[in-house]
Amino acid sequence: MVEVTVVRGDISAQEVDAVVNAANRAMRGGAGVDGAIHRAGGPAVLEDCRRRFPEGLATGDAGWTTAGQMRAQWVIHVVGPNYGRGERDRSLLTSCYSRALEVADELGARTVAFPLVSAGAYAWPKDDAIAAAVDTLRSAPTSVTEARLVAFDQATYDAIKAALDG
Ligand code: ADP
Repeated sequence: MVEVTVVRGDISAQEVDAVVNAANRAMRGGAGVDGAIHRAGGPAVLEDCRRRFPEGLATGDAGWTTAGQMRAQWVIHVVGPNYGRGERDRSLLTSCYSRALEVADELGARTVAFPLVSAGAYAWPKDDAIAAAVDTLRSAPTSVTEARLVAFDQATYDAIKAALDG
């Protein structure tokens, strides 16, 4: 069974088999998690995105590339719904987590670090973004042993910890 854990830190520095990127549909880089991952991974990540996903990815879907120079072996890119722009179908958000675990299983990744998808620039309400992450990760059938939620700030860490303990 997958154990869902939480740490406070930077997603791009995690020592895991795969890190999940909160990408956008074009998959050509961006700010927030996306920026940190492309900076840490180097140009190989963007090259692999272009080669493997010339059309980008659909909202709610996941796909993998190399992690370049990061400690992780793979990046699993997901595209969360942009709540701020009116994309409020929650199944698109939970699908990011379930599809990411499916891709991790295809890769044979056992430890996977996740950011709080859609909770930054895409403005999904924080508490519901946390509930969607925790509930979906806990109930997914997967061979992943650790799904690590990475909180960037203390308040988010505390809220995730409370959701996991509650
Ligand atoms: P989205 O566009 O899907 O909303 P963001 O990258 O803007 O994605 O933010 C998603 C969440 O990740 C937010 O809670 C944000 O504070 C957090 N975050 C931003 N940078 C990092 C990072 N380097 N590592 C971990 N979490 C991060």
